[in-house]
Amino acid sequence: MTQAVVIDKTEDQQTVTLRDVSAADLPEGDVLVDVAYSTLNYKDALAITGASPVVRSFPMVPGIDFAGVVRDSSHADFKVGDKVILNGWGVGEKHWGGLSGQARVSGDWLIPQPAGMTARQAMVIGTAGYTAMLCVLALEEHGVTPDSGEIVVTGAAGGVGSVATMLLAAKGFQVAAVTGRASEADYLKSLGASSIIDREELSGKPRPLAKERWAGAVDVAGSVVLANVIASMKYGGCVAACGLAAGMDLPTSVAPFILRGVTLAGVDSVMASKAKRIAAYDRLVSDLDLSKLDAIATELALEDVIETAPKFLSGEVRGRIVVPVNPSLDA
Ligand code: NDP
Repeated sequence: MTQAVVIDKTEDQQTVTLRDVSAADLPEGDVLVDVAYSTLNYKDALAITGASPVVRSFPMVPGIDFAGVVRDSSHADFKVGDKVILNGWGVGEKHWGGLSGQARVSGDWLIPQPAGMTARQAMVIGTAGYTAMLCVLALEEHGVTPDSGEIVVTGAAGGVGSVATMLLAAKGFQVAAVTGRASEADYLKSLGASSIIDREELSGKPRPLAKERWAGAVDVAGSVVLANVIASMKYGGCVAACGLAAGMDLPTSVAPFILRGVTLAGVDSVMASKAKRIAAYDRLVSDLDLSKLDAIATELALEDVIETAPKFLSGEVRGRIVVPVNPSLDA
């Protein structure tokens, strides 16, 4: 028996409890993993609160990511004792996830825990940080360099934004951090932000084009915030868009694309190829000062996950929330 957060739905009523599950309850899969660390992501908060229809079948164990140790495997790439990481693939949405002592998944979804990174560090980074890395890679693929100009990061005090700010600053970029929380200015500067922008500045009705300000952008917000970012890109700039914290819509025009050659690069972490994941984690190891990850981490016990989830939706979470499930496995 192990403990897991379990979401049940009867008729239209959703309930979430922490309860015992056995290995026999776990879904099909060719690798059984003892979870060392999991995390609480924005999407997990949507699942646990039921604020958005993220969960596709019930009962469901949320947790879109975990790092742990293989307990049993019939997959050719993994053997007992291997340290592994999982992000996405519908885990925590369609397949039981990481907010559990154990997870049984397809070995095709796992990647090896990179050398030089602990399970805890992997999960402080988590899906949010790995997505931030994918965004930075997208900017690089579109030719954005520190010489191109300043990069704007929206939702900077959140998970994706905090890691994006750290990554970009470490690479020598000037980072303009957009936040709705003025109280987080010192935190953002400590991560490497060179300037702080009040979210209000990007929340007004977007114009087709505004003054050219940024060479690149990492956007977690969507909606009017993303539209204002796009309108303010420099000629040839690139926006890596990965989130919808402000909304799913995008009230923009074609003007920035056809008059300034702006690129809107969509970033998805869930179905990204294994090769892309491994490349992203390699870069996270080489680019981030992993010893500084504690600056963005808050530990949360598994039993406190359910009551903490709503804080994501009210924008109260700073950085990343890491859940030590079996931390002694992280030796
Ligand atoms: P967090 O909750 O940690 O951070 C989101 C941040 O967005 C908040 O901290 C806040 O930052 C800002 N924010 C909140 N509300 C608004 C608003 N109305 N307008 C503008 N900004 C707002 O979440 P994550 O960083 O983990 O995820 C961010 C987004 O990225 C989510 O939409 C998530 O679903 C998405 N995502 C997408 C992935 C993909 O594969 N495409 C993978 C991972 C995440 P501040 O207080 O600093 O303003």
